[in-house]
Amino acid sequence: MTEACGTTPRIFLDTEFDPRDMSVSGLLSIGVTDDVGRDYYAINADANLESLLDHTFVVEHVLPHLPVIVNRGATDASTTGARGLLRRWGRRLRRWWRRGRTIEWDTSHPHYRYVRPAEQIAADLEQYFHAPTAPELIAYFGAQDICRLHSLWGSNWAEMPAGVPRKFTDLRVLADQLGISELPEQQGTAHRALDDARYNREAHDYLLRQKAQLVPADDLARQLHQHLPVISGAWESLTCQQRSDYRVAARKLLAQYDIRARREEV
Ligand SMILES: [Mg+2]
Repeated sequence: MTEACGTTPRIFLDTEFDPRDMSVSGLLSIGVTDDVGRDYYAINADANLESLLDHTFVVEHVLPHLPVIVNRGATDASTTGARGLLRRWGRRLRRWWRRGRTIEWDTSHPHYRYVRPAEQIAADLEQYFHAPTAPELIAYFGAQDICRLHSLWGSNWAEMPAGVPRKFTDLRVLADQLGISELPEQQGTAHRALDDARYNREAHDYLLRQKAQLVPADDLARQLHQHLPVISGAWESLTCQQRSDYRVAARKLLAQYDIRARREEV
């Protein structure tokens, strides 16, 4: 793959999945892209579609971006009102409600060309990750995403090709460390894995730009101590708790104000 200016190549990952099924049949789609825009997107032909119908979030937010047809059965309309009223019967009702619906692949959908067996997706990604320099994998709230990636090899590291990353950098953690609470708004289609992976690249670029400009929280904490010596003594002599208190104050200030580094005037 093309390296960006001799630095460690970065690959941005996102997946869509059934949160109740950690096996490969719970993986619905996967998207990766890198620093230079090399995209890969696949929809898992081995996903257990039927089991998705009683998962409200997946039905409302993920299925609209997949090439599937949800056939609403005759019982569907008659259950719409009852579902709200009979919450305590929810589980039972959902089982009954699902029987009235079916789901199938929409082979005429333009995105159907991305549907391929899990084994093929694993082979494609082995090729994608193959590189002389191990890439940095980046995801947003990505603990599930890397598990879903690994599920393509049965979550068995011994079976997994050497090039597939075992660790990742979480954008949310990176943002927290920089004291940044708000990330840029996503322009693409949320919950379509490739769009989400591309967004991860944008958010990462944004964080790097902020990192270059913003005062690190630890530096600001030291400055607070130096100029407001509520606790006397050098920074190095403070207890861990005292330093932590300053860092908490610094992170709050960084989250609320646009504080940038400025050279000392001579
Ligand atoms: Mg997503």
